[in-house]
Order: sequence, then structure tokens, then C-alpha cells
Amino acid sequence: MERKSSNITFFDDLQTFELLLEETIRFALEHSVSQSVLLMDEQTAKRVREKNQDAAIRIFVKPLKNTGEKTSEFRTKDGASFAQNADRIILFASPHVHILLAAQVLENTFRACWTNDKATVRKTLNCLARDTDSMFDETPKVEQGTAQDYVNLLRMTSALLDHLARKEQNAALEKHDLQGVLEILKAISSKRRCHDVLFVFVEQIAQIMETDRCSVVRIWNGARTGNVLASHDNARLNDLLIDLSKYPEICRALETERTVTIEDAESDPLMESCRNDLRKANIRSILVVPIVLHDINAGSLLLRAARSRGAFTPRDISFCEIVAEAAANAIERAYLFDTIQRANERLEHLAITDDLTGLRNHRAFRETLDREFERARRYRHPLSVILIDIDDFKKVNDTFGHLQGDAVLREMSQRILRMIRKSDVAARYGGEEIVVIMPQTNLEGAYSQACRLLTELSRPPYPGLPTNYVVTASIGLATLDHDRMMDQEALIRTADGALYVAKRNGKNQVVVGQPE
Ligand code: GH3
Ligand code: MG
Ligand code: MG
Repeated sequence: MERKSSNITFFDDLQTFELLLEETIRFALEHSVSQSVLLMDEQTAKRVREKNQDAAIRIFVKPLKNTGEKTSEFRTKDGASFAQNADRIILFASPHVHILLAAQVLENTFRACWTNDKATVRKTLNCLARDTDSMFDETPKVEQGTAQDYVNLLRMTSALLDHLARKEQNAALEKHDLQGVLEILKAISSKRRCHDVLFVFVEQIAQIMETDRCSVVRIWNGARTGNVLASHDNARLNDLLIDLSKYPEICRALETERTVTIEDAESDPLMESCRNDLRKANIRSILVVPIVLHDINAGSLLLRAARSRGAFTPRDISFCEIVAEAAANAIERAYLFDTIQRANERLEHLAITDDLTGLRNHRAFRETLDREFERARRYRHPLSVILIDIDDFKKVNDTFGHLQGDAVLREMSQRILRMIRKSDVAARYGGEEIVVIMPQTNLEGAYSQACRLLTELSRPPYPGLPTNYVVTASIGLATLDHDRMMDQEALIRTADGALYVAKRNGKNQVVVGQPE
């Protein structure tokens, strides 16, 4: 692995080329859409056809333009001219993804280039399109993959290559290790939620590296504690708080922003203070690798692996560093996903909730009633609603003030929420009127529930009011009459009429409405 010019990585390792070729073929076949172009040399095309008889993507075959005009050096002016003179090539271009992998062979030497840079891939495609003649498998199979999947896999693959390009020691990495990295990346790229991503990440590393512990820890800037976000031995562990003074190796990695390895905790001076704990936990060697995220607000993430015996080898360390770097994108994307998800849930909640009472608002009430009414009518199920209006509420306001009135309304709402069934929906109908929709509830059920509510609501004290001050409410009840109520308005009108009668008859009572 060596030089990287702009977004193109040049390298000269045949094994890596083969591995990337396999990946690219698999990827292109899986993710082709009707507008994609897949172009490759004859040798590669033959391989694709043998392996994937039923692949119905259009494959353009590039003739070997450079046969007979071999020069004594690699033509590496830029990615496009390198690709034009390539002996082996695979190029995949779709609306969201651009991949170019090409190689030139000179006697016994080999040189390859990889890029996912759109401009380079497009330029190469334009140059090659003029030379491209044959075509087979006319009918493209149109299959829509998500654009984000492509982008993530590509980012990760190129992060992997970047890393390889930078670190000489990685020459020691074997195909097997690279495959391990790709396996992990594939596994995590199929997950969306942050915790799932992190768990699969540590689980796979623990398995491949045969560690006894493997976890991801987050530390907020300057904090003395950290949170274990995922641990390989417990899928449900999430956000376990740890005291950093017991983890000097993590502190060191944070300070230096580099990998820290403890070969033998028994003799390493850094571990002096926690030797006993480690002995008890049967841990001898530890590896901590920082996971570098672009988003500084995400805190510092570290991968920590530990073994009961056998120090981590340079190969183990390289492996962990590569996976950590390549996985950073997926982790970051998952963070974003979680944040957006939480924001959406919050917005959704706000949109259907009444500020003062915490009950559903009027709009949510309408939507729920629409739905329940339709369902009840379709299956001829029972459905009841009750309309609750606080008695003499004006007096509460006038005597104790409007704010105190608000507090009473809130307390009443909480009492109602505590008493109704999970499937019932309580909403603020307006002012100091509350409506409860009771699906699957017939007249008897709704009536006894309304009576229980009436008793509970009139039980003093209400916070802020004198302890003997009694607040009561009146309730109008309506049950769906399948033969006479054609729309939900009829149901509401019936409950409203019953409430009016309850008020007129002296308040603090439940009245069952009669359909018009
Ligand atoms: P009734 O027994 O006939 O229901 O008498 P009432 O005093 O409760 O009269 P009515 O239902 O007609 O009036 C409702 C009163 O509730 C008037 C209004 O000021 C008050 N109110 C409505 N919404 C709120 C609110 O959000 N907070 C407070 N504090 N008062 C409210
Ligand atoms: Mg009222
Ligand atoms: Mg009232």
C-alpha cells in the first residue's frame, strides 16, 4: 500500500486486489439499479458469468486496449488514464455509488488503484465507453437498494484502504484478517440503531480475536467516569457507568489519543493501582484503541479488549485499529440515526400532547376517534366515550386564581390517566372538559368505569386547595348504537347531551345519553 493522490489509492498487493474485486462484484450485483453501469475486463466478466448465471445486470466488457503496446512503466498519471491502460478493471457507476478498481501488470510487477471518487469514475467511464463494444444479458434486474447502504459500505472500504495506505506494518495483515474486517463492517452496516451497531461490533471482534472481554466505552470531555455502551457478553448492557480511576489504560489512551497496550498487567507499572482487581477479574493483557469520530459532540469512544492470558500481537493491534477506524463511519451514522429518531419521537409526542394536562390534544382525540369509530363499525364491536366537565370550575378560578385552577385541571387529568385502561385514550376536549374514548367497552362497562372516575375525582384534597375543599365533575356517557349512529359526531353529540342533563340535574353525576 502506498501513495494516495486526491481520492485515489494506489497499491501493489495482489491479494488485496483480489479481495476488493470479489467485494466489488458482489456489491455491484446486489446493488444494481436500472441506471447502473457495470464495466469490466473479459477475464473478470467471465468469472462473473460463471459465478452468477442469473445476474441480469448489463455488463459492458472492456477490450484490452493496451495489448501490444506495453511500456516499461506503469501509466499512473491519474486514475482515469491508469484505468484506460489497465489489464484488469471493474467499474460500477450508479446514481449514488461510483467504484473503480483497476490493475496494470508489468512482467512480474503489479499495480492497482481504487477509488470511489465520482469525477474520476465518470471520466474513466467516458474514455472507456468509446472503446466498449460487446454487451450481454440485456434485461437489467431492477432492484432498489438504499443509497445510504452503498455510501456507507464504500466509505468504510475506503477508510480501510486509507489505513492500509498509511501503515506499513499492515503489510503483515493477511487476506484472512482483511476478510475479518470486511465481515465486521458488513455485519454492522446492516444495523441502524447505535446500540445494535456497537454490540455487533464488539461481539465480532471478541469472536475473531478470541478475547475474554470486549467493549466500547464513551467518555465525555474531561469526565472522570465513562459509560460502557456495549459489551460482547451482554447484548442488553447499555450505558453502564464506570469509574475511570479504575481504568488507567483508558485514561492513557484518552490523553495520548493513541492505542494503549498492556502486555502483562502483573508487571506493567501503569496498572499498579488496579492490579488486584484485574487479578480477580482474571485479566492479564489489555488493548485500548480510540475510535475517532468526526463529530466532537459524540464524546470520545474507545474500544477495549482484554484477555486472561497471551499478550496482543502487533497483528491483533493492527486488526483492531483498522476495524475501529473503518467502523467509525457506521458508528457515527448510527448516532445520527438515534438522534434523529429521538427528535422525531419527541416531535411526534409534542404534536399530539396537550401542554397543560399532558393528555392527548383535541386533534389527536379526533384522529383516535375516527380510527376507533371505523373499527368498531366494521367489526360491530362496542365503543363508548365519556365527556367529563369539572363542576363550578369558574369558582375555583375566582377563589384561588387561574394558576391554581390549572393545577386542579392537571391533577384531575393525572387521576383519570391512572384509572383508565391502557387501551382507553384520554384527551383534553377543550377548556376544562376531558373526553375518554373507550374501545371495546359496552354500556355497562363504561358506566361502571365512569362512576369509579366520578368517585375518584371528587376525593379531596387537591394540591394547593384547602384540604376539605371538594371538587366534583359531571360525566356524560355515550355508547355506539350501530343502527342509529352513522358518524362519530352522533356519538359525541349524545355524550354532550348527557353531560348537559347531568349538569341540569344537579352535577356530580353520570348520565347515560340516549341516541337521537
Ligand atoms: P359548570 O359546573 O356548569 O361546568 O360550571 P363551570 O364554572 O365549570 O362553567 P363552565 O364549564 O361553563 O366554564 C368553564 C370555566 O373553566 C371557564 C374557564 O375560565 C375555566 N377554564 C377553562 N379552561 C381553563 C384552563 O385551562 N385553566 C383554568 N384555570 N381555567 C379554565
Ligand atoms: Mg365546561
Ligand atoms: Mg365546568
